[in-house]
Amino acid sequence: MKPTGYFTHRAFTRHEMGAGHPECPQRLGAIEDRLLITGLGDALERREPTPASMSELELAHDRLYIASLRGLTDELREEVVAGGPTHLALDPDTSINVHSWEAALLAAGAALNATDAVIAGELENAFCAVRPPGHHACRGKAMGFCLFNNVALAAKYALDRHGLKRVAIIDFDVHHGNGTEDIVAGDERILMCSFYQHPFYPEWPHASAPNLVNLPVPAYTKGMDVRELIDATWLPRLEAHRPEMIFISAGFDAHREDDLGQLGLVEQDYAWITEQLKAVARRHAQGRIVSVLEGGYNLSALARSVEAHLRVLAGV
Ligand SMILES: [Zn+2]
Repeated sequence: MKPTGYFTHRAFTRHEMGAGHPECPQRLGAIEDRLLITGLGDALERREPTPASMSELELAHDRLYIASLRGLTDELREEVVAGGPTHLALDPDTSINVHSWEAALLAAGAALNATDAVIAGELENAFCAVRPPGHHACRGKAMGFCLFNNVALAAKYALDRHGLKRVAIIDFDVHHGNGTEDIVAGDERILMCSFYQHPFYPEWPHASAPNLVNLPVPAYTKGMDVRELIDATWLPRLEAHRPEMIFISAGFDAHREDDLGQLGLVEQDYAWITEQLKAVARRHAQGRIVSVLEGGYNLSALARSVEAHLRVLAGV
């Protein structure tokens, strides 16, 4: 079996959104520690991403939005030099510092590089340990800690640049991936399956389109109940769609120890979901999976859950 790729970059830890923000650089440090302590890091092929280009970002985002984010970064840089504030708020939860632009380009680039390497057959599958996350980023708007929609970009890239005919996006973050939905709703080439706590953030009108399989679940739903729902809804739809590649918005904030959500998943649930997806990928997609980090804010639970996810991806 070919190796599982692990894409990450030092620049991801330079992006931060202010003291006490839950989407913090330490999240990646916790994952790194876990890979080191368990020895799992030795089983992965570590790669450094290259930044996404403007034309690649335009696969999922408005040109005007990309330009405005770049412009705001330039303005902020000048303000910081002049002794002004170090952060600029884009919405109540989301801000940038002078390093955010570079991190966002590399986070999107990681998802694209991973897609290239998996399609080229260099890697069996890949996990991108990136910040900022992406699934709330809409076509023309940053929100919910997200700047560019890494997973939606990679899915569009696989279709438009690699010529795949059908792909799937799976989102198991506790929050609804409204940004991904904004970008992919109605695109029949992409089947998007997700479950999420509802009602909850984001307060966003959920689209309904034939290519969306949305599973809203109430607070305190446990992992076993989520598994049953996945078995009854996602898996038959995935079988029917026969995706040639699977992209995962891998948020781990549905973990019962995570205070940003109130669902009851544990590490074994993430392993189970990953096993189901791996089986679908084996049947239809030559095993091709690219998984990209989204949420997960309890550092210990995040690290243990990523380990469980990676052990299944890497088969170790
Ligand atoms: Zn989340």
